[in-house]
Amino acid sequence: MFVRQQRALPLAAGEECEDSRRMSVLNSEAVVLRTWPVQEADLIVSFFTRDYGRMRGVAKSALKSRKRFGGALEPMTLVRAWFAERPGQELVRLDQLEIVRSPLSDPVDLVRISVLSFFAELLDEALPEHDPQETVFRLLVAVLEQTTVEQPWMPLTYFQLWMTRLMGLLPEIGHCTACGEAIVAGQASFNTLGDGLFCPVHRNGNASGLCADSWQLAQRMLRAPVSAFAAEAWPRRRGEDLRRFTLQALERHLERRLRSAEALARLGS
Ligand SMILES: [Zn+2]
Repeated sequence: MFVRQQRALPLAAGEECEDSRRMSVLNSEAVVLRTWPVQEADLIVSFFTRDYGRMRGVAKSALKSRKRFGGALEPMTLVRAWFAERPGQELVRLDQLEIVRSPLSDPVDLVRISVLSFFAELLDEALPEHDPQETVFRLLVAVLEQTTVEQPWMPLTYFQLWMTRLMGLLPEIGHCTACGEAIVAGQASFNTLGDGLFCPVHRNGNASGLCADSWQLAQRMLRAPVSAFAAEAWPRRRGEDLRRFTLQALERHLERRLRSAEALARLGS
């Protein structure tokens, strides 16, 4: 499951020496979120570090010399990253990435790739830069481990629910957000206008229902690690309304639609 560790080529000695006077070289465990080309052969990399939060950096010559970063720039690769903060510059300089775990070392199909893309897009959009989010990092590493070709929907459901909770968008789901009455299984609803669940009295016109199984699942998921659900049968339809509920909250907060969520929805139709 774990790939052999790869070490990228170090910088030229002179470069490192000169830079060390002005820069602080940092290293942290990190997950690569997204890359896009800039200049001729460079890539800008958005990556989520355990110790410093989300960062953006330049991977010099990443497109020219595949050797230097290898497969480490594939989104959702868990790496150890070495990077330097440059005075007065917004982007860090990415020096070296060592693969800890690649998503491509396990079998892939369209659904698994789409779920991994969703993790990447949501984190890239939602995480503030330079703001450590240790709990989110641990959540990500745990769901990545569980996201397989056989079991893609369970970790997706778990991740969405917990991201909604960690971003402060999930009021206590045992009670109606409007009146505080206890929710009865099978009678909860949610709508596009506000966070949380509602009782039948406060169900509004455009509301959708959250089925009993999903409501109970959500409560269990908020109390147990993602690995606790690995042995359960999870066809795509299971927890679909729960994913719709949490996605609505996330997109309302981000004030935009997530492209990867639309792609996932198309897979199901
Ligand atoms: Zn109510």
